[in-house]
Amino acid sequence: MIKADFDLIIVGGGMVGASLACALANTPLKIAIIEAFEPQSKQQPSYDDRGIALAYGSQRIFESLGLWPQLASHCTAITDIHVSDRGHFGATRLSAKNKNVAALGQVITARLMGEMLNKAIEQHDKLELICPEKVTKLNQEDDFVELILNDNRRLSAKLIVAADGAQSTIRQLLDLAALEHDYEQTAITANITPERPHQGRAFERFTDTGPIALLPMSDNRCSLVWTVKTSDETDILQLSDDDFLSQLQERFGYRLGKLIKVGQRTSYPLKLVQTDQPIQARIVFIGNAAHSLHPTAGQGFNLGLRDVAALADVLADCSGDCGDARLLHDYQQWRQQDQDNVINNTHTLVKLFSHDNPILGHLRGIGLTLVDALPIAKHWLAQKSMGLDRKQPRLSRGLKL
Ligand SMILES: Cc1cc2nc3c(=O)[nH]c(=O)nc-3n(C[C@H](O)[C@H](O)[C@H](O)COP(=O)(O)OP(=O)(O)OC[C@H]3O[C@@H](n4cnc5c(N)ncnc54)[C@H](O)[C@@H]3O)c2cc1C
Repeated sequence: MIKADFDLIIVGGGMVGASLACALANTPLKIAIIEAFEPQSKQQPSYDDRGIALAYGSQRIFESLGLWPQLASHCTAITDIHVSDRGHFGATRLSAKNKNVAALGQVITARLMGEMLNKAIEQHDKLELICPEKVTKLNQEDDFVELILNDNRRLSAKLIVAADGAQSTIRQLLDLAALEHDYEQTAITANITPERPHQGRAFERFTDTGPIALLPMSDNRCSLVWTVKTSDETDILQLSDDDFLSQLQERFGYRLGKLIKVGQRTSYPLKLVQTDQPIQARIVFIGNAAHSLHPTAGQGFNLGLRDVAALADVLADCSGDCGDARLLHDYQQWRQQDQDNVINNTHTLVKLFSHDNPILGHLRGIGLTLVDALPIAKHWLAQKSMGLDRKQPRLSRGLKL
């Protein structure tokens, strides 16, 4: 019998770590979550004002966790997606109607999702939130892992789940390598109010300097993610509201009429970070700690939530040692293909659409037209956008653990 303070410690109570805690709350596992910042703190990096597009598959996972009613009241449905390439012909349109679903996805601000997840954690007596607190050291023993916190407290667990973001402290403490690709691009986010109703439409417009995404939100606002070259970031952030809107309008066009209002702007440097070895002895990396993606396809959290669903599925069936190497191996084998596909597709999309080569521009136009015309290609794209995978964990199939 292994003696440890907890079965499982989740390091990082951001969107992915908090979702895992909720997914496992009704299992017999004794769980702690260690989070560096108070949920409502302005410094909490996971729960800021950016809009997060939740794929239909993520909605299904949250439904299964019993969290959907709370989240749904803060969500705006995406009923149509319009993909285009500035300066070139061709566009692709996806519609919920053609897929026989009410919505292709939903948009919620990260802050509101954080509030809902943290409320759910508070309501479960069995989940212990240790916050604000940071992990500073780690000792791997045969039967458990010991974590040493900022205040010198020592906590042990049979399994550590590292959900501590792209710059994972756990990865650094283990001295593990990560593949990093700097896109030399920055995402500028803000809420935009257009003149015309968005009617649930989401737009992805590729431009020679990077993609622009506008996601539908409440009060006819749109959540903007404008990818710019990092060398242009300061100039764009310093523009007056009017100049910002007119530069954005020039790049995005008039599909939503005149863009009339912009809220506070925030910027994020964009890198692909992928952990080399996502499982270690009694340690597993999930979410951004395992793979942090360019936000162009809005897949980062959706992918992380599928990690959560699969890990919860594997752990819920474990009657003995939840840190057993075979369990972690099963989990990673299950997740590897989806992770590789999403990482590679997102990276290729960014590379392909950030080029101003005119021949590539024409090919992209032909590609978008073909996808729009070919039912099979359109079905494939819709399945990917909706986050549906053939090998669904139980949570994604709507079954409670
Ligand atoms: C501009 C932008 C737009 C995006 N839009 C979308 C979208 O539309 N759809 C989508 O699916 N994804 C989107 N994403 C991606 C999404 O934001 C990430 O996938 C998601 O935040 C990952 O969550 P996480 O919990 O893994 O990591 P994080 O959000 O980075 O959270 C990590 C947590 O760990 C804590 N932590 C760190 N170190 C320690 C430590 N030593 N001890 C204790 N705690 C620690 C941090 O405080 C934090 O709470 C977007 C990203 C960006 C930048």
